[in-house]
Amino acid sequence: MIPYGRQWIDEADIQAVVETLRSDWLTQGPAIGRLEAAFKERCRVPHAVAVNSATSALHIACLAIGAGPGDLVWTVPNTFVASANCARLCGADVDFVDIDPRTYNISVPALERKLRAAKAAGRMPKAVIPVHFSGRATDQEAIGALAQDYGFRVIEDASHSVGATHAGEPVGSCRWSDVAVFSFHPVKIVTTAEGGLATTRDVALAERMARLRTHGITRDPQHLSHKDEGGWYYEQVELGLNYRLTDLQAALGVSQLRRLDQFLRRRRELVARYDRLLKDVPVTRPLIDVIEESAWHLYVIRIDPQRAGKTRRELYDAMRAAGIGVQVHYIPVHLQPYYRGLGFEPGHCPEAERYSEEALSLPLYPAMSDAEQDRVVSVLGGALG
Ligand SMILES: *Cc1c(COP(=O)(O)O)cnc(C)c1O
Repeated sequence: MIPYGRQWIDEADIQAVVETLRSDWLTQGPAIGRLEAAFKERCRVPHAVAVNSATSALHIACLAIGAGPGDLVWTVPNTFVASANCARLCGADVDFVDIDPRTYNISVPALERKLRAAKAAGRMPKAVIPVHFSGRATDQEAIGALAQDYGFRVIEDASHSVGATHAGEPVGSCRWSDVAVFSFHPVKIVTTAEGGLATTRDVALAERMARLRTHGITRDPQHLSHKDEGGWYYEQVELGLNYRLTDLQAALGVSQLRRLDQFLRRRRELVARYDRLLKDVPVTRPLIDVIEESAWHLYVIRIDPQRAGKTRRELYDAMRAAGIGVQVHYIPVHLQPYYRGLGFEPGHCPEAERYSEEALSLPLYPAMSDAEQDRVVSVLGGALG
C-alpha cells in the first residue's frame, strides 16, 4: 500500500531518541527547550510552547485567550475536528465560516459578511481559527485587519504548515495573529509521533499556555500569592492539564527539523511532478501558484463526476483496491453527528460541502519515490479510463 502520507525516520532520528533514553531526562528535560528554540528561530517568533499534540495546543490556546461559556469561536468546516473541538472543550459555542472554492481555505469575503451580520445581531466571535489547509497559508493580513476592526482574536491552526511562508513571513511568526499551532503527527511535515507546539508574540499568552500545560502550576515568584517558602514551593493558580511532551519526542522533533528544508523541497518537487503528469487527466488539480510558499502537506484533486465519468466513491474504491492509499480531507466538521446534534445542517457551508463530495488526497510524502508516484498516476488514469 502506498499511503497518503507517512513519516521519514532516519538513523540520526533514531540515535537522537536512543541518546535521550540513556540520559537523565525522559520528560521535562532539556530537549523541550531545544525544540522550542528551534521553532522560535525558524518562525522568527519570541515564544514557543511544546505540548503532546496540536489538539492540546489548540485547547490551551483557547483557554489562554479566555474562551469560555457564552463565548463564540469560529473556524472552517474543511478541517480536522480538533479545530472546532478545542472551543467546545472550553465551553464556548462554535460556528463555521465557508471556504474559498479555489484555495479550500477560509473565504475572507465570507468571513467579512458573517462578521457584519454578527455585529448587527450583537453576537461577535471571541476568536477565529483559520486553518492553513494542505500547507497553504490563509490570507493572514486580511484576517488580521478584520480582527483589528471587529475585535476578535486569531488562533492559526497551522497543523499542516510547518515550514510554510506567507508574504515573506514564516507561518508561526504570528505577525497578524495571537497564536499559531503546529502538529507533529506522523503524517504531517515533521513528526514526534504525537506532539504539537504553539507560538506567540504575547508573553502573557506564552506564560499562561506554559502553565496550563502543567496543571496550572507556577514557580515564578511574580505569580506566587505567598512568598517563596523554599526550593520545593509551587502554587497551582488555575486549573490546568498534563499536556507535556516527553524529551524522547522532543529530541526526535529537533532531529527531524534538521531535514525540514529537504522534506519541503521533495514535497514541492512531487507536487510539480503531479501537476505535469495529471495535465491531461480530467480532474481538478490544486492551485500551485504558491508552490514555494506552501508546505504541501496534502495534494488534493477534485473529481467532478460529469467530467471524470466516475464518482469520487468509485475512484476511491478502485484506487484503494489497487493499493493506493487515497484519503478524503475533510468531511465537513459541522456535518459530524456531534455538531449536527448542536443544530448544524447541510447547506450551512455550501462550498465546503460541495468540495468535500469531490475531494481526494493523492499520496504525498517526502520519502515517496518517482516510481511510486508514477504508479499512483497510472492507477488513477486506469481507474478513470
Ligand atoms: C492533525 C490536525 C490536528 C490535530 O493534530 P494532533 O497533533 O493529532 O492533535 C488539528 N488540526 C488539523 C488541521 C490537523 O490536520
